[in-house]
Amino acid sequence: MVRSGGRFLPKLGPQRCGPFFFCIRGFTLGAMAPSEPSAEPALAPLIAAAQAARGHAYAPYSTFPVGAALRAASGAIFAGANVENAAFPLGQCAEASAIGQMISAGERRIAALVVIGGDQPCPPCGACRQRLVEFAGPELPIHLCASDGRELARVTLGELLPLAFTAALLTPGKATPGA
Ligand code: ZN
Repeated sequence: MVRSGGRFLPKLGPQRCGPFFFCIRGFTLGAMAPSEPSAEPALAPLIAAAQAARGHAYAPYSTFPVGAALRAASGAIFAGANVENAAFPLGQCAEASAIGQMISAGERRIAALVVIGGDQPCPPCGACRQRLVEFAGPELPIHLCASDGRELARVTLGELLPLAFTAALLTPGKATPGA
């Protein structure tokens, strides 16, 4: 079961993944929740950025455009879209694109994330969960929104990636991921 706006939704079976049409997401967050505006007004700019990025997605093979927008620790917003390739494994997820924008701007910590894949919750794929944990803690709020901006589900990175492998494991007691 997953949390969505204070409610819980049933899990469903495997679902096709957005960024690569041939990969499988680990699970589906559940049946789409009823329409519901986000409870956090501060999310509006993030949602708008994700929608705009999704509009620029390059997804001719999957025809599944995804937009992601993150708020960095400074408050700045960085967005990205999925970028596919005729050589399918080279495709890049929207979350990865957004992280690249953030790092290129000199930021290192993610405070919030919005992902928009369509009209069902589109959680980050397994690889992107690992990318995210490099720059965020388990408390990172991840808002899964519909293409029209409605928030469909809200989870934390820790819920999506328990027992994460981080830099702290490489240098016990010393490293802080993303620092
Ligand atoms: Zn991904």
